[in-house]
This record gives sequence, structure tokens and C-alpha cells, in this order.
Amino acid sequence: MRMIFHCFNLERYIDLPFVCVSLWIFCCQLSHQDCFGRPIASAPDTWFDVLHNKTSKCLNLGSYNYLGFAAADEYCTPHVIQSLKKYSASTCSVRVEGGNTKLHVELEELVARFVGKPAAIVFGMGYATNSAIIPALVGKGGLIISDSLNHNSIVNGARGSGANVQVFQHNNPARLEDVLREQIAAGQPRTHRPWKKIIVIVEGIYSMEGELCNLPEIIAVCKKYKAYTYLDEAHSIGAVGKTGRGVCELLGVDPADIDIMMGTFTKSFGSCGGYIAASKEIIRHLKHTCPAHIYATSMSPPGVQQVISAIKVILGEDGSNRGAKKLAQIRENSNFFRSELQKMGFEVLGDNDSPVMPIMLYNPAKIPAFSRECLRQHVAVVTVAFPATPLLLARARICISASHSREDLAKGLEVISKVGDLVGIKYFPVEHEKT
Ligand code: PMP
Repeated sequence: MRMIFHCFNLERYIDLPFVCVSLWIFCCQLSHQDCFGRPIASAPDTWFDVLHNKTSKCLNLGSYNYLGFAAADEYCTPHVIQSLKKYSASTCSVRVEGGNTKLHVELEELVARFVGKPAAIVFGMGYATNSAIIPALVGKGGLIISDSLNHNSIVNGARGSGANVQVFQHNNPARLEDVLREQIAAGQPRTHRPWKKIIVIVEGIYSMEGELCNLPEIIAVCKKYKAYTYLDEAHSIGAVGKTGRGVCELLGVDPADIDIMMGTFTKSFGSCGGYIAASKEIIRHLKHTCPAHIYATSMSPPGVQQVISAIKVILGEDGSNRGAKKLAQIRENSNFFRSELQKMGFEVLGDNDSPVMPIMLYNPAKIPAFSRECLRQHVAVVTVAFPATPLLLARARICISASHSREDLAKGLEVISKVGDLVGIKYFPVEHEKT
């Protein structure tokens, strides 16, 4: 490479180390593309059919199927089929023009009751819930302070809002306080007028870290500086807390202390769409002003019914205690799997109780080997790399479900351990007791 550069006198124009790094990133990205980008040919259940050369049954350690509702369910599925027959697959209309079924109204009431807020509004897509709602809540003259590891939907919503956006060090209440203090003292750029509104945005469980939010401390800082709080519970609602009510319940936070609660239906509830739960005034404001409510076709009725039924199971309103069992099971499964991985010598990110478990690979070049070898041994894992993570912090992200049996988890651990040895990612070698 250096010779070619030298012969054509390219060194003057192009920086060689830069080209090498770019080529390396490009190759890593190319090889990353085939990792679990393969079509699947069944529901994303505990075991599912992955197409690679031929269809093969794989243990699913990748889907966000936290409570197992992504598969046929004895209570949810008959209700969903009924709603499909009654309402069809789509409303073919926006909420304000005939796309507002009885089911949508019922779901909004149920979500508000479930998360403990006065009102809620639902949208057809979780991503768009953040990216469309944030600009409807805050704009020019406002200040958004966002955790540095917030999801891309939040980043895009914040950028599109026209508000000033500041980032604070991930999950660090002291750094949040520093940013608040500085920004309040400086005021708006140029005019130095006080900010019209300040919103602090955090997640309940960070999707690439598996880490719980330091919510009580962050709320205390927000209260001190009179900032609004916006909490994205995509990965925590339904998945943690004794009755599935997310990080607020798990960490003993009163939902009244969070101004805007956001969540998606795509994880614990096995459906599609997202919600915002807040005061009646905020929800009324969103219903009158948010373009994603006014101009986008409403959530698919069978999707709505799936969430209604899943929440009823979680609340025990289906007449069984399956919900409570699922919640106990996901906690037990997550804590078991995490501690077994750690015992094997893997570096596992995140906190206890979190069903999201990133295993550090670091070098992105290890991604294809890890992912393909797991798949060859019938275990499907998701690998994540740049730009979803920093370049040299590639990882495999395991998502545990309440529907994984002990045998499933044992199979997953056995394969991950073998492949981990092969690829060399046991960064904390276990010292075996001398006999
Ligand atoms: N917020 C967070 C924290 C997420 O991780 C995701 C996606 N996994 C979303 C929002 C977007 O949700 P959806 O996939 O339901 O569109």
C-alpha cells in the first residue's frame, strides 16, 4: 500500500493512516452485514427458523421478546385474530379522520392506568414516537439535555426540534447537574434570555449497555433546576419491576415525578407502535399539534389488540396468574444467564434484573466469526458495532426472554462458551481451583 502511494506520489494528497483505518472500517462493516441479517421464516419465538443456505431451527437470543408474547399466546392470539376479522389489518386512515377505533381509545386508557399517568397517546411506530414527539414538545428557545448514549430516535427527535441540544456523560447525575448549571447561567445563545423550557431525556434500560438508569438521582437534579424529565422505557416497561411497570417500580420512583413517559410496544408486549403517557394537558397538546398523530395512519387494530391483551395478562386481568409468573421468570432467567456468563470469564455489561446483556467483543473484526459460528451451532445472537457503538467497543447483545427454559439457556451458554474460546473474548480468565 505504501509503495503504491509512493509510486503515484499520493502521499501529498491522502493521509495513509486515515485511508487504512477507513478501509478497515469499511471491511468490518461489509462483514457485519451478513450477521443475522438473514430472513427468518417463523414467529420470533424462543426457537425460530433462520434461513441460511437452508432453513435451520435456532435458539433465539436476539429478539426483544422479553415476556414471550411474540409467539402465539393462549389468551392474546384468539383476541388478535378476532380483531383482525372485525377491523382488518389497517384502519387506512389517520386518527382524526376515521382511524380512531374503540380499540385505540381502550389502549390509551389502559396504558395510562398501567404506567400510572393521567393520560396517554399511542403511535404506529416506537421510533417515530420519539422522533416526532420531541419536536412537538420543545422547539426554538428550548434546551434539550440528552444522555450521551440515548437511542438514535431520541437523537433525531432532538436534532429536528430546533431546540439547543446538549449532551451529558452517560448516566452521570453529577455531569447532568454541571450541564444544567452552565446552560442556565448562559441562557439562550446570543440573546442570553432564559430558556423557554428545559427537558432532560434518559432511558430506563440502555439498549446497547443493558444498564439501568440512575433515575432517582437524575430526578433530584431535574427538580432542583426545574427541568422536565422525559423517560424512554422501550426496554424496561413490562420487562422489569414486580408488576412489570418498568424502572419506576424497580427503583421506587413515583411516576408523578416523571413528566413524560415514553415506551414501545415492540418488546415486552410482542406488537408494534409506541406511547407517550403524561398529564392530560400534555396529551391534549400532542393530540392537537403532533404531526405524527394528525397525518399518520393509526396503529394497526390487531397490533393494538395484541398490546391490550398482553397488558391484561401482565395485570392478571385474563383470569390467570401467568403474568406474574412471566415477570418472575424473566428476572430469574436474566440473573442466571448474566452470572453464568460472568463465571465463564466474559465481560458482560449492564445491571442485574436487566434482560439486555451485551458481551464485549471489542475488536469489530471478531463480529463475523462470533456471529457465524454461533449460528452454525444453532444459536442466533445479535452483534452490534459502529455506528451503534464506538468503533472499538463492538459487542454481542443477548436478549433474554421469560419463555426461555433452563435447557434453552444451558444450550445458549454452552455454545457461547465454546465460540468465546474460539474467538478469544473471555477477557477475565477463570482461575480453576487446584485439585
Ligand atoms: N427507544 C429505544 C430506547 C429503542 O431501543 C428503540 C428500538 N429498539 C426505540 C426507541 C424504537 O422503537 P421501535 O423499534 O419500536 O420503533
